[in-house]
Amino acid sequence: MARLIIGIILTVLALFLLLFTIQNYFGYQVELEPAAANMVLIVTGLPGFLLAAGGVVLIFSYSKRSRQSLPRHDIRVGNSQPGRTLYCRNCGGQLNTNSNYCPKCGTNALA
Ligand SMILES: [Zn+2]
Repeated sequence: MARLIIGIILTVLALFLLLFTIQNYFGYQVELEPAAANMVLIVTGLPGFLLAAGGVVLIFSYSKRSRQSLPRHDIRVGNSQPGRTLYCRNCGGQLNTNSNYCPKCGTNALA
């Protein structure tokens, strides 16, 4: 969660930096000072770009992680899903998917 917040903050900061860069870049171009325009690109444009890249990577790594945790959850609750064969830990008999108890020995399959 902290990763997502840091990623968003970095991206927002980067957007401000890039906006500032573009504004100054075209400002200097209009004043026919290409050297100053290039200077602005390097001094604020480059860090802005790196911040944006870092922020996007953080946001993507967070969303990737939360997507991966979903199937893991499905498997855990999938015990009661029909069509899936489970066997008793105690006697090895086939379990009824509608019940948490073994029909042969009565062991609680979820305990
Ligand atoms: Zn059993």
